[in-house]
Amino acid sequence: MAAVRFDRVGKVYRDGTRAVRDFTLEIADGEFMVFVGPSGCGKTTALRMLAGLEAITEGEVSIGGAVVNSLHPRRRDIAMVFQNYALYPHMTVYRNIAFALKVRKTSPEEIRRRVEDAARILGLTDQLQKRPAQLSGGQRQRVAMGRAIVRAPQAFLMDEPLSNLDAKLRVQMRGEIARIQRELGTTTIYVTHDQVEAMTMGHRVAVLRRGELQQVDAPQRLYDGPANLFVASFIGSPEMNLVQAVLDRVDGGLACRVGEQTLDVPAEVLAGRPALERYVGRTIALGIRPEHLEDARVADARVGSGRLRGRVTATEPLGSDLLAYVEVAAAPVVTEELLEVAGDADRALADDLRAEAGRRRTSVVARFSIDSRARPGDDVDVAVETARLHFFDLETEAAIT
Ligand code: ATP
Repeated sequence: MAAVRFDRVGKVYRDGTRAVRDFTLEIADGEFMVFVGPSGCGKTTALRMLAGLEAITEGEVSIGGAVVNSLHPRRRDIAMVFQNYALYPHMTVYRNIAFALKVRKTSPEEIRRRVEDAARILGLTDQLQKRPAQLSGGQRQRVAMGRAIVRAPQAFLMDEPLSNLDAKLRVQMRGEIARIQRELGTTTIYVTHDQVEAMTMGHRVAVLRRGELQQVDAPQRLYDGPANLFVASFIGSPEMNLVQAVLDRVDGGLACRVGEQTLDVPAEVLAGRPALERYVGRTIALGIRPEHLEDARVADARVGSGRLRGRVTATEPLGSDLLAYVEVAAAPVVTEELLEVAGDADRALADDLRAEAGRRRTSVVARFSIDSRARPGDDVDVAVETARLHFFDLETEAAIT
């Protein structure tokens, strides 16, 4: 086991594509680190540079304190698990798992011990004599993990290992991989574009965008304190609501003007974000997570006194709660990311989004209690948990702290 370090690492492909830029990150010995980000953000490239499958253009990568930039992949003592399991179809599960040890001329007794240990951890003890074709997708994925485990490497690298499994199995394997990692304590770097996977599996999560590290933090800290608009929108489902607001000074504190309505900023929120003072009189992006909005008729005291009035345009009952789409009179925030995505797909859509930002209507999504009787067409008072508001600079898109 070993710590892994990226030090100002960059990657430019031969065709000039810059996939990773100035990437610095320290992964502790025994840590489960997840790289997450949208397609093309450079997470696979970063992992492949660590594995030695891709040359490093700039900077240094080290494993266990030793720089490995020019070390052959086989000599880096790491094991990779891919989404296509790459099992040998003609070999039994036992021989598939044992294969790497055989190549290394490990003694037969040692091979037996290690394969049986791995099979026990993975729940494959009864499957050892089967061939891959006789296994379910989840079992095949476990065999692929077994091949990595028996090698007892310094680190596991996993690139979207669950993406070929159906939704239910993914959830189950998510838990299993996390459990196995805890049991073995092996440093693990796990690549995914799925933020739920990232949030549920990693000790820490590194969020990438266009080859650059945006934020690295424990999942809950990432959720509670996103460093910028990109992370705020990427982590959480449904997404954080973002509306334009103007910061005003009111007696003893600050308030956000959202269209014609006002939300007081609680004193403790202000105390934790002294930089807000500098934004008085300016327009900012105000972020509110759906679960911090409640139908005022059923809201309890925790939600506090903040209120936004709006019209319900649609509802989605989820059994446990009710998603309500509420149109409020305020301008939406159009992030650089939104424009980029729209711009790639359709210029006209990007123009629409820009025009939308000039309008004074935003649809926010609220996670109401199922006791809310809100229906499309209703005018509702929405209680806002103002202690959980987020604030961002509209120009830099960074959180105001
Ligand atoms: P995905 O989730 O879609 O796999 P990713 O975040 O893992 O995406 P990478 O595969 O690391 O992203 O790709 C990062 C960027 O580098 C993309 O713009 C991609 O098109 C580009 N890229 C990847 N491999 C090569 C290559 N061999 N030559 C040129 N460009 C490449």
